[in-house]
Amino acid sequence: MDCIICNRIEMIEKGTNKHFVCEMQSGYVVLGDSQFYKGYTLLLSKQHCSELHQLDQETKLLFLKEMSVVAEAVYNVFQPIKLNQELLGNRDAHLHWHIFPRHTDDPNIHNPVWIIDKEIRNHTVLEDQELEERKELLKREIELLMVT
Ligand SMILES: [Zn+2]
Repeated sequence: MDCIICNRIEMIEKGTNKHFVCEMQSGYVVLGDSQFYKGYTLLLSKQHCSELHQLDQETKLLFLKEMSVVAEAVYNVFQPIKLNQELLGNRDAHLHWHIFPRHTDDPNIHNPVWIIDKEIRNHTVLEDQELEERKELLKREIELLMVT
């Protein structure tokens, strides 16, 4: 399989994806590999397709709803001044939501995150313990929001 997102999902199913947070009905929640944006989270669609309208109606609405729940959980846990949610997939054509918390110390708050040099934004890798703590907080908050 040459889809990086399908590969990541396969790792989740095998229990070898250390960024995995929790499973939703429509997808999987993972923390971003780099935490330059503290709390950067993704929701990966269970279905491999590139556009929202390629999902059946029910799955599409569920995917949108669950994205908003995950985004709210990210907001509550990481307390940014603004959230950015993006569905791009120009390079990896498998539906995945990017949820970026933008904090007060953000070096370029008025612009999309992608404007920051890749070498900078892709290299904030957490120690395992801190990663686990962030995942646990987020997972708990998502569970809380799902029952209310
Ligand atoms: Zn895929």
